[in-house]
Amino acid sequence: MAIATTSPVTGEVVESFDELTPEQLEDKLARAAAAAATYRLTSVEDRAGWLAQAADLLEKDADAVSRMITTEMGKTLRAAHEEVAKCVHGLRFYAVEGPKFLRDAPGDAGRVGAKQTFVTYQPIGVVLAVMPWNLPLWQAMRFAAPALMAGNVGVLKHASNVPQCALYLERLFREAGFPEDVFQTLLISARRVEQVLRDDRVRAATLTGSEPAGRSVGTIAGDEIKKVVLELGGSDPFIVMPSADLERATDVAVKARTLNNGQSCINGKRFFVHQDIAEAFLERFTAKMGALVVGDPMDEGTDVGPLATESGRRDVEDYVDDAVGKGATALVGGSRPERPGWFYPPTVLTGVTPEMKMYHEEVFGPVAQVWTVSSLEEALEIANGHPYGLGSNLWSEDGDERELFVRDVQSGMAFINGNTTSYPEIPFGGVKRSGYGRELSDLGMREFMNAKTVWVGQDS
Ligand code: NAP
Repeated sequence: MAIATTSPVTGEVVESFDELTPEQLEDKLARAAAAAATYRLTSVEDRAGWLAQAADLLEKDADAVSRMITTEMGKTLRAAHEEVAKCVHGLRFYAVEGPKFLRDAPGDAGRVGAKQTFVTYQPIGVVLAVMPWNLPLWQAMRFAAPALMAGNVGVLKHASNVPQCALYLERLFREAGFPEDVFQTLLISARRVEQVLRDDRVRAATLTGSEPAGRSVGTIAGDEIKKVVLELGGSDPFIVMPSADLERATDVAVKARTLNNGQSCINGKRFFVHQDIAEAFLERFTAKMGALVVGDPMDEGTDVGPLATESGRRDVEDYVDDAVGKGATALVGGSRPERPGWFYPPTVLTGVTPEMKMYHEEVFGPVAQVWTVSSLEEALEIANGHPYGLGSNLWSEDGDERELFVRDVQSGMAFINGNTTSYPEIPFGGVKRSGYGRELSDLGMREFMNAKTVWVGQDS
């Protein structure tokens, strides 16, 4: 894919960027390695101060950066503002909490015949981050903030359609005071990721993106015996039981399915509704989905903007056409509007069966699949039959149902009576083909650290 800002509203290229030449890439990697050698020795207090400064700068830039996000990938300006605010919060979180996560953890010296034993957390060096466009700032930030706090150095290969966001991040960290080359953006195509990951100077990688990209990076990392964190696709179940507050549940269901114009790895994509409330749920849900305003994402009144890329829209269309062609029913939406740009309307489908592609895969657009089920067990059986296991959602006031859900749902995250989302305070990640490893919280920070065991013998 060419590295360029292309407007999803008009389909026109706004600005193109040159890829790094081989010499420029080599120079950037050499700089990253040199930075890692000295950055690891900086104090935790200094790093926390630079993160806090980055938060302040980003807060000041919020309007311009939000516009940049909307221009590059088409989410509503309102959603872009929320994303920027989340990044500011994430930076401040690691500035305050990060130093606590980095403290040595004492062990029981007596039990191992030592005078003293403890675990000390040390940075591992240069980490490659391969990131997607759907939350172009937040996805990169949730890698960068803990990694920089930990004393690691970051090289970012961002998605090819968000180069302005990618370059902004490099600028932000430099202007915040981080030493030169501690965070660099590499404007390279996906096929050059292998070269970077195989480079000895790069110690580990994290990838957020599709299953094929994850498989490729995971395979190379395995071959090189390098640590990798994979945050891949999701097709989260959203289960609604009779005791649920239907008004709230349907409000959140609509938000879940249309956030980022339907391009979110987490959030309900498959809705399982108990038969006793199925009619009432569908009535509210279809009315609310059908009432959303689709339009220019810069307009304040717009609820849903265009999809980010032409190929992304084609994929969504193919999934829906395949399902409808095989017998599914579109209660709302289901076909592209006649207008320029990569718009696709909020769509609600019923009657999805295993013969249809979307049953087993992920639809990255504002398309909801709704099933009527007779029990929570039935919902979980269908939900768990999917290869992905990222987030999950239950709406219920019943304690037994909640317990069963938490015990049996096959996902990395289980949210009850609220929207699935990411917070820096709690871990984020999936199981099964949604990937492995965790981001955010202390767990995310320690993924790229050497937990070094120290044992000191008795004095002689
Ligand atoms: P994608 O094609 O996999 O792209 C993501 C990143 O990987 C981009 O930087 C891309 O570069 C790069 N890439 C693509 N193929 C690669 C390969 N073979 N080797 C190395 N790098 C490669 O993903 P997408 O379709 O744009 O994004 C949507 C997917 O990301 C969905 O499946 C979504 O669920 C997932 N996602 C997951 C999370 C999570 O936290 N679990 C969060 C957000 C999104 P180019 O742009 O240059 O191709």
